[in-house]
Amino acid sequence: MNIILLGPPGAGKGTQAQRLVERFGMRQLSTGDMLRAAVKAGTPVGLKAKAVMEAGELVSDEIVSALISDELAAMGSDVGAIFDGYPRTEAQAVSLEAILDSHGRKLDHVIELDVDEDALVERITGRFTCASCGKGYHDRFERPEKEGVCDKCGSTEFKRRPDDNEETVRTRMAEYRAKTAPILPFYEKNGIVSRVDGMADMDAVTAAIEAILNR
Ligand code: ADP
Ligand code: AMP
Repeated sequence: MNIILLGPPGAGKGTQAQRLVERFGMRQLSTGDMLRAAVKAGTPVGLKAKAVMEAGELVSDEIVSALISDELAAMGSDVGAIFDGYPRTEAQAVSLEAILDSHGRKLDHVIELDVDEDALVERITGRFTCASCGKGYHDRFERPEKEGVCDKCGSTEFKRRPDDNEETVRTRMAEYRAKTAPILPFYEKNGIVSRVDGMADMDAVTAAIEAILNR
């Protein structure tokens, strides 16, 4: 199964993708994570992407589509893909069709997480992750069970993203509205779009997504 999780920054795409990975053994393909890894490693892609990401703008379609294509090529054909943060433009949606086609895959679902924009700044400015395993947390909505210790791997190191500040979030939301939301009709004509209430609590969102996948 191949699915896209679509929604503005902070909608809960990464949170839900991590749960689907654990429950169904699917693979999360997050272009944001791939780009952050490239920035950290100082690769040519990372050097190009760093300032763009810090400003909350979009990295070029060519760069992100190449990252996705390489990841899919390295994956077993029996492993389902969860696209998280990709595609973000119409050009990326067109590239994804070709990339999936070349791997004999097809899109099963595009799941839109419907959220109230006013809640997103709080979600994003409170977000942090385990520095070791990447599990996501939130200052208010999902604290580790034992303060300062990752529930999943026991690490005591956590990190926050440099672009998770209010000013950059506003730019990222504007980019979503202008360039990403308009790709929905592209998928609607295929009848594969489902909407989920992303303002519900995390377990209810997971249950709604699972119901769609089990349809
Ligand atoms: P995205 O990947 O769409 O940018 P995340 O999954 O990282 O968003 O979620 C952003 C923040 O909001 C995280 O800190 C996460 O713990 C929290 N969060 C995610 N889903 C919910 C929810 N349904 N209710 C409250 N907080 C949530
Ligand atoms: P994310 O982790 O999805 O919030 O992405 C963080 C940042 O990485 C974005 O604000 C963009 O600068 C960049 N980025 C991630 N995915 C894409 C994409 N598909 N297209 C363009 N830029 C992207």
